[in-house]
Amino acid sequence: MSEFQLEMLYTPGDIESAIARLAREIRRDYRNKNPVLLGVLKGCFVFMADLVRALDIPLETEFVSLSSYGPRRTQSKGTIEVFQGLRKPVRGRHVIVVEDIVDTGITVDFAIRYLRRRRPATLRVCALFDKTARRRVDVPIDYLGYKVPDCFLVGYGLDYDERFRYLPGLYCLKEDG
Ligand code: 5GP
Ligand code: MG
Repeated sequence: MSEFQLEMLYTPGDIESAIARLAREIRRDYRNKNPVLLGVLKGCFVFMADLVRALDIPLETEFVSLSSYGPRRTQSKGTIEVFQGLRKPVRGRHVIVVEDIVDTGITVDFAIRYLRRRRPATLRVCALFDKTARRRVDVPIDYLGYKVPDCFLVGYGLDYDERFRYLPGLYCLKEDG
């Protein structure tokens, strides 16, 4: 069985302060707008939970389940599957897409197109992490936590084959041997 090394990139405290900053920015723009925070599962669930509580303004949450990864992959396939789509219309609503991390940009680009067809009043993107090195599609990130280096990240909701999601910090995964 191969072993892994985990190198810490951000402590739980670093993540908390990034989320506090994002919450201030979003609160300023969306107070009294009752926005819909649209989380992209599964990776977003930890971030979403902390973000909505930091925001502390009236809002609604929805989730879609999209995936560009197969099991045991650390590379995007480049095609997106919708495992679970939107359950409620977002027509006329102020929608914020909530992503754990933007890598190639293919997932967010897909989410933006998917949502635009549903005619929201406004549509913006909030991502906790941005891995710019591997971007293939230019996507707008309106609210960003941290830029991250080109390595495979786990923790804070991010997994490797369903492992490591529970870790409260963010780590770079290195496989040895
Ligand atoms: P993209 O479509 O931008 O290439 O990738 C978006 C999705 O791939 C993210 O929402 C995330 O779920 C997953 N992803 C991208 N980079 C990483 C990474 O470094 N670690 C993990 N665990 N997932 C990632
Ligand atoms: Mg994701």
